[in-house]
Amino acid sequence: MLLKVHPDHPEPATLAHAAQVLRAGGLVAFPTETVYGLGAHALDPQAVARIFAAKGRPSYNPLIVHVADADAARRLASQWPDEARLLADAFWPGPLTLVLPKDGAVPDAVTAGLPSVALRVPAHPVAYALLRVAGIPVAAPSANRSTQVSPTTAAHVLQGLGDRVDVIVDGGPCPVGIESTVISLAGPRPTLLRPGTVSIDDLRAVIGDVALPSADPHAADARPSPGMMDRHYAPRATVRIVPGEDRDRAIEAAAREVDGGRRIGGLMLHEADPRIAPVIRMPADPAGYASRLYAALHELDDAGCDAILIDAVPEDPAWAGIRDRLRRAAHR
Ligand code: AMP
Ligand code: MG
Repeated sequence: MLLKVHPDHPEPATLAHAAQVLRAGGLVAFPTETVYGLGAHALDPQAVARIFAAKGRPSYNPLIVHVADADAARRLASQWPDEARLLADAFWPGPLTLVLPKDGAVPDAVTAGLPSVALRVPAHPVAYALLRVAGIPVAAPSANRSTQVSPTTAAHVLQGLGDRVDVIVDGGPCPVGIESTVISLAGPRPTLLRPGTVSIDDLRAVIGDVALPSADPHAADARPSPGMMDRHYAPRATVRIVPGEDRDRAIEAAAREVDGGRRIGGLMLHEADPRIAPVIRMPADPAGYASRLYAALHELDDAGCDAILIDAVPEDPAWAGIRDRLRRAAHR
């Protein structure tokens, strides 16, 4: 069932219905500022199991628990260090997820058996209001089939999950457009697990020290964030990142493949050969780019592209979340 709501002032009757479905153990897809989430009652292991089944998500990939405020988050953690308080004050509600040692009430199904739990207070008025009305913590990964491109509109959710979901709350497109930044506060040093639109510089400005996950897979602190090592966020089409220094040659080679009968689209920052089509011209600022990225990948998949050329994006920290998603989309 698809229920439209006003993105800024969601209708209370619709929220009450969706909240009731959540409390009863059902699945509700809803907009957050990052991407659409597939929500279930986080303290009900059977409801949580339905998320994994609907997504085809491997059980080793833990879920983010969404709550209405920092107090509710704190109740799900067994420790609340100063860094958690400072980051929650600075970035919640917003696109930052904190990983903390978990409280005993959080089921193993949510955390994939880990002793830690990922917590976030979303800023989207619909998500925020739904959590308030439901009055329960809601586990919600992105509302797509596992490994596919995350949904940033209700139409994407419907296309990917269809009747595997009890209710889809349609609150329009998601403004941020890529998944939240994830930082772990469960180990000896605060560690960035997943880059997003809250950058490592933003985090360091609030708590000082933030480590990147160690590149050495044998190091003691190198346990990567589960679910982050594989192909992920990938369209059906093959993705090729086009490096700036080799752009003309790469585009010419692709254009010759088009002459040979392949359909090759592009996500471009600059003008490209007209044989590359369709081309989606991407915004040159990271916030605009992130907001457009997944919808653009969905559009090129829907256009039946065999391959997608994507102009490499700048190297600076503000683009780290986007570089990460592009790298994963290109991974085979
Ligand atoms: P998604 O819900 O699809 O955006 O993915 C959630 C991601 O958050 C997972 O793939 C993990 O990378 C990360 N995550 C969730 N829970 C934990 C945890 N307890 N420890 C470390 N990372 C986590
Ligand atoms: Mg996901």
